[in-house]
Amino acid sequence: MNSSTFLPGNNDKTIWSQSATFHIQPHSKQKVAYFHHKDVGNFHFGVQHPMKPHRLTLTNNLVMSYGLHEKMTVYCPPKATDDELMEFHETDYINFLKKVTPENSEEFPKFNINEDCPIFEGLYNFCQIYAGASIAAAHQLASDGADICINWSGGLHHARRFEASGFCFVNDVVLAIQHLLRFYPRVLYIDIDIHHGDGVQEAFYATDRVMTVSFHKYNASFFPRTGNMSEIGCGLGKFFCLNVPLKDGIDDDSYVSLFKDVISDVRDHYQPSVIVLQCGADSLGKDILGGFNMSIKAHGECVKFIKSCHIPLLVLGGGGYRIPNVARCWTYETGILLDAELQSELPERTPYYNYFGPDFSLHPPLVRRMYNFNTKSELQKIPQQVHELLRFLDGAPSVQMQELPGDLQFILDESDKELRDSRKDQTIDIRRRKR
Ligand SMILES: [Zn+2]
Repeated sequence: MNSSTFLPGNNDKTIWSQSATFHIQPHSKQKVAYFHHKDVGNFHFGVQHPMKPHRLTLTNNLVMSYGLHEKMTVYCPPKATDDELMEFHETDYINFLKKVTPENSEEFPKFNINEDCPIFEGLYNFCQIYAGASIAAAHQLASDGADICINWSGGLHHARRFEASGFCFVNDVVLAIQHLLRFYPRVLYIDIDIHHGDGVQEAFYATDRVMTVSFHKYNASFFPRTGNMSEIGCGLGKFFCLNVPLKDGIDDDSYVSLFKDVISDVRDHYQPSVIVLQCGADSLGKDILGGFNMSIKAHGECVKFIKSCHIPLLVLGGGGYRIPNVARCWTYETGILLDAELQSELPERTPYYNYFGPDFSLHPPLVRRMYNFNTKSELQKIPQQVHELLRFLDGAPSVQMQELPGDLQFILDESDKELRDSRKDQTIDIRRRKR
C-alpha cells in the first residue's frame, strides 16, 4: 500500500511553487470555525469500553457554557458519504461497516473487529458523523472560510485503509488531509495523543507532501507498539516522518520544551502550508490508559505554540478516557484558539456540573506522582537527533554521510533494515505492526 492510490500523481506537485506560502498575517485576528454534530455524543461502545462519545457532549456543553460559541462560527457538519469514506478506505470494508449490526456481526469476516473495536448500534452513523465533521472542517479551511477549524470528535488516528484499529473505525485524519492536499502543497501533521499516530503515518509513509510528527509513549507492550525513531518514511517520503518516543511519567516542562524545540525545527525545514494538529487528551496525567504527568495547561501550551505559527490550522480531538478532563482540556484549548481567557471556576450552569467535582475547576491537579522514566540526557538528545534528520529535507549536497553522528547512523541503519524486512514480507503493509 502507498499513498499513490489516492494522491495526485507526483507530477502534480510541480504545480505548486516550493515557495508558496499560506501564512496568515501575524497581527490579524484568526477566524475560528467550530464543527459539532448534535448526535455525536449519543453512541455507546459498551459499558466496559473506555471510549465514551459522551465526552464530546460534555466538551460541547462546557464550550457553550463559557460562551465561546459567541466568538466563533459554529457549524453542524454534514455526514460523510460512502464515496467520501472510500477515498481512503477499501470498498469491502466500508460496505461491511454499513451492513454490520451487533446481531449479524458473526456473518462477516472480521476486519479486526474485537473488544477494542466492537460492533455497536449506529456504528456506521457514528463514523459518518465524525469523519464528515473533519472533512467539512478541512474544506472550510481550504476555501478560506476560516484560519482555524476545530472538530473535537475527530482525530481517530489508528484506523487503517482496510480495517479497524485502536477504537478507530474510519480514519478521519487521513480523509481530511487528503482533502487538504487538493489545495495545499505541504501538510504537516502533528500528533500529541499518548498513542503513536500509526494509521496516519502509514497512509502517508511514502509521500513528501505530508510530514507526520508523533509524540507518544513507546515500548514493546504499549499499543500500537510502533513509533520508534527509526521509522522515518520511505521512497519519496523518506525523512518526511518523525517519531518522538517517550517513556512514562514525562512532566510539563520536559514535554513542552521538547515539543517546541522539535516543532520549530520541523516548521523551519518543512515550511508547511497547512497544519493538522491531533490533540489526543490521553496524554494528560491521570488518564485511564495513559501514563504521562502532563497538565491541561501544558497540553494547551502545545496548541498555543502551533497557533502562534500563523499557518492555517485544523485542530482535531483523539484519545482521552478520563472524560471530565477531556472536556476541560478541549474547552481550554478552544479558548486558546480564540484568544479567550477562561476563569478557572467552571460555570455552574454547565450541564453535568457534578462530573467535575470535587474541585469544579478547569485546572485540577493532574500529577499522578508517577516516576519520570525519561532521563534528562535522553530528552536532550531527541532534538539533536531530529535536527540531524531534518537536514536531509534540505537536500543540500553538503550533507556528508560520513560525518553523521553515531546515533543518527544507527537510526538510518535501523530504518533501512525495517524497509528490507518489510519488502521480504509478502503482505502489502510497508511498516509492520509487530516486529
Ligand atoms: Zn490515544
